[in-house]
Amino acid sequence: MSKVIETLTESVRGRVMTASDPDYDDARAVHNAMQDRKPRAIVHCVDSADVMAAVAASRDFGLDLAIRGGGHSVPGFGTVDDGLVIDLSPMRGVRVDPAKRVARVGGGATLGDVDHATYPFGLAAPGGVVSTTGAGGLTLGGGIGYLTRSVGLSIDNLLSADVVLADGRQVTASDYQNEDLFWALRGGGGNFGVVTSFEFQLHEVGDVVGGPLFYEFDDATAVLECFRSYLSEAPEELGCFFAWQIAPPLPFIPRHRVGNLFCVLVTCWNGPHEQAERVLRPLRDAAEVKADGVDVMSFPALQSAFDDLVPKGMQYYWKADFATEVTDEAIAAHVEHGEKTPNVNSSMHLQLINGAAQRVGADETAFGHRDKTFVPLILGIWPDPADNEANTKWVRDYYAAIHPYSGSEGGYINFMSGDDDHRVPANYGANYQRLAAVKAAYDPENLFHINQNIPPAVGS
Ligand SMILES: Cc1cc2nc3c(=O)[nH]c(=O)nc-3n(C[C@H](O)[C@H](O)[C@H](O)COP(=O)(O)OP(=O)(O)OC[C@H]3O[C@@H](n4cnc5c(N)ncnc54)[C@H](O)[C@@H]3O)c2cc1C
Repeated sequence: MSKVIETLTESVRGRVMTASDPDYDDARAVHNAMQDRKPRAIVHCVDSADVMAAVAASRDFGLDLAIRGGGHSVPGFGTVDDGLVIDLSPMRGVRVDPAKRVARVGGGATLGDVDHATYPFGLAAPGGVVSTTGAGGLTLGGGIGYLTRSVGLSIDNLLSADVVLADGRQVTASDYQNEDLFWALRGGGGNFGVVTSFEFQLHEVGDVVGGPLFYEFDDATAVLECFRSYLSEAPEELGCFFAWQIAPPLPFIPRHRVGNLFCVLVTCWNGPHEQAERVLRPLRDAAEVKADGVDVMSFPALQSAFDDLVPKGMQYYWKADFATEVTDEAIAAHVEHGEKTPNVNSSMHLQLINGAAQRVGADETAFGHRDKTFVPLILGIWPDPADNEANTKWVRDYYAAIHPYSGSEGGYINFMSGDDDHRVPANYGANYQRLAAVKAAYDPENLFHINQNIPPAVGS
């Protein structure tokens, strides 16, 4: 046994796995099967003490360190060849304080874990649109989802975080202590330390009126025009994103239309149910709705409704932007490339970061793109590595066609792929220099570098 494995085995309570373990291959697999890496050891941390020991071992033995929350990072930031992985999946407990409307969430919890714990109290923390995503990685990059328009990004609802730093200490970051660290954590990704627990403000969310509306592909221009105008002014309790979707066999899809390409508006109305018909009417009037999946459902049911379309073990290649508007030219480009959507798993999601998310100042958190409204995300997802070239080409061609109309170089750090490194400064926007200064204060040796990396500012 090597010295580092011996040290880890002696100092942590969780399991330390190496290539000699029979289930090593399962343990090293992340969501994106393209990221097939072989860590020296995977440390399943059960508490902050384990995390501190793993951070110390990485530092003392000079090993690259990856932090894994939910493992969803498309560039594979939750794993590393020949280094250490801090796997936080044993730390996924969620404690809800219904009186204060606050949840304490373990660093390795998924959005599904958070929803499961908060729903019985009629509460939710804003997350994304897929329940298997890690709350950790999603939150540290921003967190865009069904509730963004009404209560903001996930970071806008973060009250504090416990963080194990590069020097091995655990500190709490909030508006009242380590304020610079707290600022940086809210949008700066995994650059600053290992967050062992998050404290979130919760909101009243119980059963919502939501689900997908399917329209003919030929009506896409009308549907996109309606989406861009109506969702700029609609009540903020309405969350919505546009998507291409090859129809899977769902109960509300006519049998003979399964396999056809549609455009879809996925809705989430978290207001009074009796107002849902009125609020959704403009969307239903955008064009003829060919299949209607909107219903009253629990928020956890909506947040897990599309999990099967994005399973672990597929090939993932994405490209994304922020955009201030969706021009007519952009719509034409979307339609041209959307028509070539290669399979049932792949899509383009046009998400929204307006409403409450835009009422936070660009320098209040590290997420600087508060003037943007739209987040176009082209998702290439396919099962067979033999199809890598064709699928990545579809994503790249699509992106090249829409990017000139985005009006922004930066994109959402959580939607980047492995070949997007050159975009890092633009992704952090005007906050990049300040982030580099905070990095220099908390991680001067850049121990936490397997991420959308911010090198420490020299001379800070
Ligand atoms: C199928 C799918 C659906 C998605 N849907 C959405 C969505 O609706 N909205 C949205 O905003 N994003 C979404 N994303 C993007 C998602 O936010 C990012 O992939 C995010 O990085 C995932 O976090 P994770 O913890 O699962 O990933 P991991 O791969 O485990 O980690 C990703 C990064 O976050 C860091 N990290 C994770 N946890 C911690 C922690 N506790 N402390 C410190 N660093 C940590 C890691 O070091 C790494 O750099 C989706 C991704 C996928 C694959």
